[in-house]
Amino acid sequence: MKVLLIGPQGSGKSTQGRFLAQYLQVPYISTGEIFRKLSQEKVGFGQIVKTILEEGHLVDDKTTYKIVKDRLSQPDCKSGFVMDGYPRNMEQLRLFDPKFDRVIYLDVPEKEVMRRLMGRGRSDDAPKSIKTRLDLYYRQTRPLLDYYRKQGILVEVEGMGDIQTVQNEIKKFV
Ligand code: AMP
Repeated sequence: MKVLLIGPQGSGKSTQGRFLAQYLQVPYISTGEIFRKLSQEKVGFGQIVKTILEEGHLVDDKTTYKIVKDRLSQPDCKSGFVMDGYPRNMEQLRLFDPKFDRVIYLDVPEKEVMRRLMGRGRSDDAPKSIKTRLDLYYRQTRPLLDYYRKQGILVEVEGMGDIQTVQNEIKKFV
């Protein structure tokens, strides 16, 4: 089964994604994680990605879709995967569509994600970067929800509860 977790930064996507991947016995794929790893390379593209991450901007769509397409073509993704972070906008979807079976929307109010992100302490969690990322999410990523809703594969999960409650809720839909 191919599942996409979608929701604002700080909605619990990575915690829930890891759990769900283990539950479904498929890999958990996070584009944020891929880019954070790349940004540790001291030369070339790594340094470009580092700046993009720190500013809270998106890596360009063409580079991103190639990296994702390549990762999803690996043998471990044959029977499915849990995706966190792609597509981030309609253009990425147009460039490469992973053809998800299910899209799980983790719904957490903006006020709460702000509160969570402020307390997280990741290197790209400076207040200005958080604001840029949330703006991008609401403007570019959220429109994908309508697209998946029309496809009939979107499910909405209330993301405000404790981790276990949210997990149980997600399990009902896969
Ligand atoms: P995340 O962990 O999903 O919040 O992603 C962290 C950062 O990685 C984002 O702020 C972007 O800079 C970059 N990133 C992750 N996924 C994508 C994507 N699909 N397209 C472009 N940039 C991405």
